[in-house]
Amino acid sequence: MTYVILDSLKVETMKITINREECIGCGACEAICPEIFQLAEDGKSAITEKYRKSHLGHGEVGEEHVQCVENAKESCPVEVIETSNP
Ligand code: SF4
Repeated sequence: MTYVILDSLKVETMKITINREECIGCGACEAICPEIFQLAEDGKSAITEKYRKSHLGHGEVGEEHVQCVENAKESCPVEVIETSNP
Protein backbone atom coordinates (compact mmCIF):
# COMPACT_ATOMS: atom_id res chain seq x y z
CA MET A 1 0.00 0.00 0.00
CA THR A 2 1.27 3.49 -0.82
CA TYR A 3 0.56 6.58 1.22
CA VAL A 4 0.86 10.02 -0.32
CA ILE A 5 1.16 13.00 1.99
CA LEU A 6 -0.23 16.15 0.45
CA ASP A 7 1.69 18.89 2.22
CA SER A 8 0.01 21.55 0.13
CA LEU A 9 -3.33 20.68 1.68
CA LYS A 10 -2.06 21.04 5.22
CA VAL A 11 -3.39 24.19 6.86
CA GLU A 12 -1.37 25.44 9.80
CA THR A 13 -3.44 27.02 12.51
CA MET A 14 -2.78 27.95 16.09
CA LYS A 15 -5.22 28.12 19.00
CA ILE A 16 -4.73 30.85 21.56
CA THR A 17 -5.97 31.02 25.12
CA ILE A 18 -5.53 34.01 27.40
CA ASN A 19 -6.00 33.35 31.10
CA ARG A 20 -7.86 36.63 31.52
CA GLU A 21 -8.24 36.28 35.28
CA GLU A 22 -4.47 36.46 35.68
CA CYS A 23 -3.89 39.17 33.03
CA ILE A 24 -2.59 42.40 34.58
CA GLY A 25 -3.58 44.56 31.60
CA CYS A 26 -0.06 45.78 30.81
CA GLY A 27 -0.86 46.08 27.09
CA ALA A 28 2.34 44.45 25.83
CA CYS A 29 0.55 41.85 23.70
CA GLU A 30 -1.60 44.52 22.06
CA ALA A 31 1.45 46.69 21.35
CA ILE A 32 3.32 43.80 19.72
CA CYS A 33 0.45 42.06 17.91
CA PRO A 34 -2.52 44.44 17.66
CA GLU A 35 -4.30 42.46 14.98
CA ILE A 36 -4.84 39.59 17.39
CA PHE A 37 -4.78 41.13 20.89
CA GLN A 38 -6.61 44.14 22.27
CA LEU A 39 -7.42 45.39 25.73
CA ALA A 40 -11.13 44.93 26.40
CA GLU A 41 -13.42 47.23 28.39
CA ASP A 42 -12.44 45.50 31.62
CA GLY A 43 -8.80 46.46 30.99
CA LYS A 44 -7.66 42.93 30.28
CA SER A 45 -6.40 41.40 27.06
CA ALA A 46 -8.83 39.79 24.65
CA ILE A 47 -8.66 38.23 21.21
CA THR A 48 -9.81 40.65 18.52
CA GLU A 49 -13.29 39.94 17.19
CA LYS A 50 -12.04 38.71 13.81
CA TYR A 51 -10.06 35.85 15.36
CA ARG A 52 -12.14 35.21 18.46
CA LYS A 53 -13.83 31.86 19.02
CA SER A 54 -15.98 30.87 21.98
CA HIS A 55 -15.12 33.67 24.41
CA LEU A 56 -12.98 36.82 24.83
CA GLY A 57 -9.86 34.88 25.78
CA HIS A 58 -10.02 32.24 23.09
CA GLY A 59 -9.09 32.46 19.43
CA GLU A 60 -7.57 30.80 16.41
CA VAL A 61 -5.19 32.22 13.81
CA GLY A 62 -3.59 31.08 10.58
CA GLU A 63 0.06 30.55 9.78
CA GLU A 64 0.61 34.19 8.86
CA HIS A 65 0.01 35.32 12.46
CA VAL A 66 1.88 32.58 14.31
CA GLN A 67 5.10 34.56 14.73
CA CYS A 68 3.29 37.67 15.89
CA VAL A 69 1.36 35.67 18.49
CA GLU A 70 4.52 33.92 19.67
CA ASN A 71 6.24 37.29 20.12
CA ALA A 72 3.30 38.57 22.14
CA LYS A 73 3.28 35.40 24.22
CA GLU A 74 6.97 35.81 25.05
CA SER A 75 6.43 39.44 26.00
CA CYS A 76 3.70 38.71 28.54
CA PRO A 77 5.19 39.40 32.00
CA VAL A 78 2.81 37.03 33.78
CA GLU A 79 2.84 34.31 31.10
CA VAL A 80 -0.91 33.99 30.71
CA ILE A 81 -0.97 33.52 26.92
CA GLU A 82 -1.04 29.88 25.86
CA THR A 83 -0.86 28.50 22.34
CA SER A 84 -1.42 25.11 20.80
CA ASN A 85 -1.92 23.51 17.44
CA PRO A 86 -5.37 21.98 16.94
S1 SF4 B 1 0.94 40.91 27.84
FE1 SF4 B 1 -0.04 39.45 29.26
S2 SF4 B 1 -0.51 40.67 31.11
FE2 SF4 B 1 -0.05 42.11 29.46
S3 SF4 B 1 -2.12 42.62 28.62
FE3 SF4 B 1 -1.27 40.93 27.38
S4 SF4 B 1 -2.07 39.04 28.34
FE4 SF4 B 1 -2.33 40.72 29.82
